[in-house]
Amino acid sequence: MIDEKTIQIKLQLINYELLMTTSPMSENLYEKLSYQISGLLESSFLVIYLFDQWTNSFFLKTKNIQQNRILLNQMIYDPTLTYRRAIADEQKLRINDNDLFTVSSSHMNYQLIPLKPTNGPIGMMVVGMENGSAISEGIQQVIRKEVELLLDYIYIIEQRDKNEKKNQVLFDMISHFLNLKTKTEIFTEIITALKKVYPNFDFYLHLSQEYEKNTDLPVKLLEIRNDVQSSSSTAFLTAEIQIENQLDANMTYVYAPLAGQQGVYGVLQIIIPKLLDIPKAEVDYISRFANAAGKAIESTTLYLNSKHLVSDLTMINDLIHQLNSNLNLTEITKIIRNQITLLCAPEEIGFVYNIQENTRLFETLEGSTAFFDTVEGKGFIKYLLGEVELQQEAIFSGEFKLKSEDIPFRSIMAIPMENSGSINGLVIILHRKPYAFSFEQYKLLQSILRHSTLAFINTILKEKLQKAASTDYLTQLFSRNYLDKKIVEHMKNGEYGTLILFDIDDFKKVNDTYGHYIGDEVIKQVAEIIMSTIEDRDIPARWGGEELAVYLPNTEIDEAVQVARNIGDQVESFTEPRVTLSAGVSSWSNKRKVTPKSFFIHADKALYEAKGFGKNCVVRYSVDENTDELIRE
Ligand code: GH3
Ligand code: MG
Ligand code: MG
Repeated sequence: MIDEKTIQIKLQLINYELLMTTSPMSENLYEKLSYQISGLLESSFLVIYLFDQWTNSFFLKTKNIQQNRILLNQMIYDPTLTYRRAIADEQKLRINDNDLFTVSSSHMNYQLIPLKPTNGPIGMMVVGMENGSAISEGIQQVIRKEVELLLDYIYIIEQRDKNEKKNQVLFDMISHFLNLKTKTEIFTEIITALKKVYPNFDFYLHLSQEYEKNTDLPVKLLEIRNDVQSSSSTAFLTAEIQIENQLDANMTYVYAPLAGQQGVYGVLQIIIPKLLDIPKAEVDYISRFANAAGKAIESTTLYLNSKHLVSDLTMINDLIHQLNSNLNLTEITKIIRNQITLLCAPEEIGFVYNIQENTRLFETLEGSTAFFDTVEGKGFIKYLLGEVELQQEAIFSGEFKLKSEDIPFRSIMAIPMENSGSINGLVIILHRKPYAFSFEQYKLLQSILRHSTLAFINTILKEKLQKAASTDYLTQLFSRNYLDKKIVEHMKNGEYGTLILFDIDDFKKVNDTYGHYIGDEVIKQVAEIIMSTIEDRDIPARWGGEELAVYLPNTEIDEAVQVARNIGDQVESFTEPRVTLSAGVSSWSNKRKVTPKSFFIHADKALYEAKGFGKNCVVRYSVDENTDELIRE
């Protein structure tokens, strides 16, 4: 037998020659090595097993050696880690015959040399010597040391090769990012690259922002919950990689924050179907990978945001421009409604004007959808006004639910129209689908309304003022002024029309008997009967005192007389205290031209005549070519 020093030199030469002639990654290398060492030691056989942490097994690296004599186990499954621990702890290794191989030659002496390189995988070398000979402890140490050096060297080369490939994937991914514009493209690139690096793992991208999902990408919305401390949310909140070993599931999860320069955009989850101590180099690589991905997500987000920002600003600018022109309320609501429909395609839009601050008295403006005219709609408006008033804040929800009422809308935006600190109204946007509106849409809508509230409120006030000037306070009929104006206008542009003048009979008596207050109530009752009887196009007015009038554009006198009679009948039946009316009716047409002044006088004359006829009747003032006559109906 040769001495240790010679063995060492020979072994070093063997290793050197091996590395010169054989690729370190070639399986062949182990066979050659075993063959050479076996020759050196004059052993009957010599095999090398290396541990694989994916399978918890030692794999035979020298398959072709001595197969004719010994049936070797290609793989030694080591679930209880007996061998592995023994090697790691430098304990004496006992070869388990059953485990290792079936021996065909009984007078064989087996020795097991543990291999524990600094970086590379651990392993063991089984040496079989015939006729009771053995390898000395010293020679075992020499062999072990030289083989371990070789294993380390191979490992480093292998790692370098693997890293080169992985870095190439990372580099390729980053350079691809430069050409990608949409989030879907970015996510697809990330997943494709991950699959290249880790073909056996699963991945998810947990994103902090909603992402329109219509692809098969493994993308989820990141859930940050205070009550459950998950590794995913920890990774997101601390921006540090988290590793979670789940013993019962036999899984390892890696959560790497997708961080950019300005924030964390989500978490990359890597699912490894095994309990594993991930080497630091691997963790570093995953971090670098996630950072590159985070930066790409960030720049796409910023790019998309800036694009949005520009188009949003243009839209709001256009809107302000439109609202600056002198529009009426209907036109304003129409413009805003169109804008909102374009923005978020809601099922219902409601414009609510809060008549009086801090009350739930409201008016639904024209341009609101039909739901807001229903009983449920009105109740809902009342509820929302109360909520907004209470919280002094808009309502935005994608999972809205009321306990008491059955409102089918899950998505809701209720944005107050505020002017100098007070809430003047509410724009309500609804959709049955949950999460139908995004936060961006909500912000933009707020912006739209901030810019249009003033135009809204001013127009509402202006129209109210105009209405107040043309409305009689007691009866809510039009003022005489307004009626005069409308009649003059129509006599200029229209073809024909009629005027009915009413006077309550013996009204002094009502006042004398019941007092002025009741007198007023009676005038209101008569006004209500008039309003409920006439058509929309007709114009009712308070002519003065207890005299009321209706102008009926494009109405023949016969028809107007009927209307007057009808009103007279109803007044007689339904007023309380009961009163009657006298009425005078006059008409004009392009064929029988009269001046506005005569037109009024004719009606007045007819009314006077009605009083003369004994009241509670209708008199028409008839004009023909020759004579004017007053006809009692
Ligand atoms: P007739 O028209 O049938 O000849 O008798 P009359 O009693 O109605 O007489 P006239 O029309 O001349 O008088 C109208 C009275 O109605 C005079 C006034 O005291 C009263 N009056 C006028 N405006 C109001 C009002 O706004 N409220 C009340 N309560 N009374 C009014
Ligand atoms: Mg009178
Ligand atoms: Mg009267």
